[in-house]
Amino acid sequence: MRTPGRGEPLTFAGAPVALGQTAELRLKVAESYTAEPVSVPVTVVRGAPGPTVFVTATVHGDELNGVGILRGLLNDTDFSALRGTLIAVPVANVPGFLNRDRRLPDRRDLNRSFPGSRRGSLTARLAEMLFREVVRKSDFGIDLHTAGGERTNYPQVRADLAQPAVAELARAFGCPLVVDGAGPEKSLRRTAVAAGVPTVVYEAGSAQRLERPFIEVGIAGVLNVLRHLGMMPGETACPPLRLTVERTHWIRSRTGGILDLKVDLGQPLRRGQAISVNTNPFGREKSQVKAPYAGVVLGLTQLPLVHPGDAICNVARVDPRAIDAWGDYWRQNGRIYP
Ligand SMILES: [Zn+2]
Repeated sequence: MRTPGRGEPLTFAGAPVALGQTAELRLKVAESYTAEPVSVPVTVVRGAPGPTVFVTATVHGDELNGVGILRGLLNDTDFSALRGTLIAVPVANVPGFLNRDRRLPDRRDLNRSFPGSRRGSLTARLAEMLFREVVRKSDFGIDLHTAGGERTNYPQVRADLAQPAVAELARAFGCPLVVDGAGPEKSLRRTAVAAGVPTVVYEAGSAQRLERPFIEVGIAGVLNVLRHLGMMPGETACPPLRLTVERTHWIRSRTGGILDLKVDLGQPLRRGQAISVNTNPFGREKSQVKAPYAGVVLGLTQLPLVHPGDAICNVARVDPRAIDAWGDYWRQNGRIYP
C-alpha cells in the first residue's frame, strides 16, 4: 500500500493537479471511425494532504447507477474540508457507454481485462490506461456496478474479506450485506487488490436505469469510506446489522413458461419457501421453484418469460440463525426498491 499523506502534484496524462485543486479531465484512449478522440472523463478533487481514493463507474458500459452515484456525490458534497484526493471516473468504459452496451465494440469485457496492455485490443488498452492513470495513483478504490442483463441486485458490497485492508473498507462502506470473495480473474478489483490497492465493489440494481434508492445507498457508502479514512469530517454511519455471505447460488427454472415471482429483493427465505410459480398460457401451474436452503434474495430476473434453465433468483446462503434478525431488519429498513 502506498503511504497516505503525499502532497506532491498528481499528474494525469501530463496534466498536473495540485493540492486544493479540482480538475475535470479527459483522458484519451482511442479514436473513433471519424478519427475523433475517444476519451474518458475524470474528475480529480484534491484537498489537503491525505490518502487517494478512486471511484469508478460504468466499467460495464450499460450499468448506470454508478454514474448517478458520482453525479450526486460531486454535485451535492462540500469538499472544502477534504483531506486527500478523490479520483472519480463516472464513465470508465466510454465505447460501451456510447453503445449502451456492457462490452466494448471488440466484444470484450473490460472487467475481465485488467491490468491490460498498451499494445493489446481496444479493451486491453482502455484497461491499461485506467490501471495506470487511476488505480496505481490511488491508495484505495471503489468500483460501482449493477446486475447485468435483465437482472437486478439487492444493494451489496463485494470484497475479499481475507485481506484485512479490504475487509476494513467493506465494513466502512456500511452496506448490511457483504458478499465475500476475491472476484473474477482480471477484474478491476481483484487486480487492484493484487497490486496493493485495497478495492471493493458496490453492486446494486439493474443495467440501463438510474435507480434513486440504490444511488442514495451508494452515495452514503462512498461518503462513509471517505470519513473512515479521515478524508471527510463526520462520523461513519453503521448499519443496524451486518450479514456476511460466503456462498451464492442462482436458482434456475425447471420448465419454460410465464413466471409469477413470489419474492422480493432482499427478502429472507426459509428452506422450501416458494420463489416462483411457473404457469402455461392457460394460467395453469407447471412448476414451482423453491428455496433449497435458508438464505436472502440477492438478485432476481426481471424477465417474466423463461426457458428451462433460465436463472430466476440468486440466493445468498446465510447462517439459518441469522435469518430472523435479517427479516426484522429487512421489514423495517431494508425494503429498497427502485
Ligand atoms: Zn458490472
